[in-house]
Amino acid sequence: MYRSKRSFSHTHGHGGGRYRGNQRSSFGRQQRQATFNPTFLVEKAGVKLVKTEYLATHRFDDFAILEQLKKNVLARGYTKPTPIQDQVIEPILGGRDVVGVANTGTGKTAAFLIPLIHRVTIGALARVLIVTPTRELAMQVRDELTAFGNGLGLSSALCIGGAKIQRQIEGLTLGPQFVIGTPGRLKDLEKRRRLDFSDFGAVVLDEVDRMLDMGFIRDVRGMIKRLPSKRQSLFFSATIPDNVREVMQSFLTDPVAISVQSAAAAENVDQEIIRINGKPKLEVLHDLLKTEGFEKVLVFGRTKWGMEKVMRELARRGLRVAAIHGNKSQNQRQRALSEFRDNKIQALLATDVASRGLDIDNVTHVINYDLPATYEDYIHRVGRTGRADKVGKALTFIE
Ligand code: AMP
Repeated sequence: MYRSKRSFSHTHGHGGGRYRGNQRSSFGRQQRQATFNPTFLVEKAGVKLVKTEYLATHRFDDFAILEQLKKNVLARGYTKPTPIQDQVIEPILGGRDVVGVANTGTGKTAAFLIPLIHRVTIGALARVLIVTPTRELAMQVRDELTAFGNGLGLSSALCIGGAKIQRQIEGLTLGPQFVIGTPGRLKDLEKRRRLDFSDFGAVVLDEVDRMLDMGFIRDVRGMIKRLPSKRQSLFFSATIPDNVREVMQSFLTDPVAISVQSAAAAENVDQEIIRINGKPKLEVLHDLLKTEGFEKVLVFGRTKWGMEKVMRELARRGLRVAAIHGNKSQNQRQRALSEFRDNKIQALLATDVASRGLDIDNVTHVINYDLPATYEDYIHRVGRTGRADKVGKALTFIE
């Protein structure tokens, strides 16, 4: 087994041009091509970029937000704003539209939640709709909303697929201030006349590139058409390929734009290639999982059945593992996730779609068991480790 090691960190900042090369690869799933070239890692081996500390121009205390909200932010452990928070909280408080080119790990959730919670609480906004590509991300947004909304008496409803629609319908009849959901379920609820998109004075589309990747383009377009023409629109996407740009233009009015694209994704991540040299990948993975320090490992594979098979074999050999992919029920996925979060299992095996936007702390290693299809997928995967100033490791298997 040969290891080629590199380690790099990115500078925070605007533009993020370094990873734009594969933007077009984020088109619809059927059109996805394998554009990730593992030699990228080898070619860049030895290149070390200097990490510069981002100097925030605001402290949380500087923002014109409710004292209780400031307290909640502090209680959440945030001492200073991340670059995206530093730059968009104020415009959002002022009612502006925003486009943030940002991936998970940049603090984008708090960047839109903090000012929106303030505006709703003071009565500047009646209702907010937040649309995410996956159920897991929707649940994470709801959890953050609960934490930041502590003591503010906010109401919210979660409208996601895989959960009982009747309960969601009941939740909606109370007219919650925040509705968080996935496109398919939101559309379904609208068709049943339980949800009226024209009710929302502010709308957040989160991880739009992923939404379109997952085939939600028609649902998203349909939803935008039915929103009130006077509204505040916030748009977040890690990449802006042509189809995303088209949705963005139909959605936003005179937006403030910020890009923190390459900032946090692979920061603090040591990246290595593992040459398999003909050895069965499963054996290599098994050996790694038996190695000291591989405590909380996220393993990415291409197919549902592939990951399921690997999971079963590792479990048969006595390892504590679980899998999340599209064939698992919502309950199974939730259980696997919380066991992983609580360190009850050592390794979680996932497909790309199932893992979108997951926010799990202290992942020690990300292993690319199968190569990702695109560079964006690679960045998304390795961004699961090395978060919040912890150094993580990403290992990529190649033949
Ligand atoms: P997000 O990009 O919204 O998925 O956030 C990524 C992670 O960063 C989450 O675990 C957040 O709780 C955390 N986070 C967001 N903003 C801050 C902040 N200002 N200080 C420390 N951690 C943060």
